[in-house]
Amino acid sequence: MESIERGHRQFGLLGKNIDYSFSRAYFSKKFEQEGVENTSYINFDVDHIDQLELLLQQYKETLVGFNVTIPYKQEVFKYLNEVDPHASAIGAVNTVKVTSNGLMGFNTDYLGFRMSLKPCLKTYHQKALILGTGGAAKAVAYALKDMGIEIVYVSRNPDKDGISYINLRSDLQWMQEHLLVINATPLGTYPNIDNCPDIPYDRIGEQHLFYDLIYNPSETKFLKLAAKKGASTINGEAMLRLQAEAAWQIWNL
Ligand code: NAP
Repeated sequence: MESIERGHRQFGLLGKNIDYSFSRAYFSKKFEQEGVENTSYINFDVDHIDQLELLLQQYKETLVGFNVTIPYKQEVFKYLNEVDPHASAIGAVNTVKVTSNGLMGFNTDYLGFRMSLKPCLKTYHQKALILGTGGAAKAVAYALKDMGIEIVYVSRNPDKDGISYINLRSDLQWMQEHLLVINATPLGTYPNIDNCPDIPYDRIGEQHLFYDLIYNPSETKFLKLAAKKGASTINGEAMLRLQAEAAWQIWNL
C-alpha cells in the first residue's frame, strides 16, 4: 500500500493493462516541473471495475480525483453520485472528482478534441466523417455537433446514423462532401503501425483535414497517406495533453 501522509493529494488512472499509460508519466512530470508538492499520480490497474470500491476505501483520506480509461469509461457510471451534463450526453466519463457528496463524473476528451481541432478548421469544414463508434467517437461527435459541424459515423456495423466502409468506397460523394475525416478507431496504433482504416485514400484532396486520435506513432499510416495527397493532418497528442489539463482544472476548482 502507498504511504499516506497527512495533506497528501492522490490522483490516478483507473483502467486495465495500463502500464503504458500516458497519464501517469504526464502528471508526474508536470508535478515535478511545476513544483506541485505533496501530490502524486498512480495507476489503478484493475481486472474488474468492482475493485474501485476497495480503492476508494484504501485512498479515502487522500484521493482527490482520477482519470478513467478503457474499458471502464461507461462502467464507472454506476459508482457516480453526480454526472456533468456533457459527460451524460456523451455517455462516457474519463475524469472523476471526489467531492463531499461523493464521486462526480466529467468528460474532458471532448474538450481536448475541440480545443485541438479549432485552430485548424477552415470555413469549408462543415461536414465530418467519424471512423468508429466507440467512446472516443462519441466524444468527438459531441464536440463537432457543438461546433455546428454535421457528422456521419462510418462503422463496420452501421446503424441509422452511420454508413459502412463499403458505402464509403462505392459512393465517392462521401469523401468529396466530408472534408473533415477523423479516425476514432484503434487501427494503426503501435505496434500494428501498418494498419489503417479501409477508406478511399485516392479521393483525398488539399481541402481535406485528417485527424487521428492515435498518438503513438505520432504519424500513423492514415495520416501519412492523407498528407501524401496534400491534406492537412492532426495527430492525437494535443488532444491528450488538453484533456489531461482540463481534468487538472476540474480537480482544482
Ligand atoms: P474502442 O471503443 O476500442 O474502439 C473504437 C471503435 O473503433 C469501435 O467502436 C469500432 O467501431 C472501431 N474499431 C475497432 N476495431 C476495429 C477494426 N479492427 N477495424 C475497424 N474498426 C474498428 O476505442 P475508443 O476508446 O473509442 O478509442 C478509439 C481510439 O482513440 C483509440 O486508439 C484510443 O487510444 C484513441 N483515443 C485518443 C484520445 C486522445 O486524447 N488522443 C482519447 C481517447 C481515445 P465499429 O464497431 O462501429 O466499426
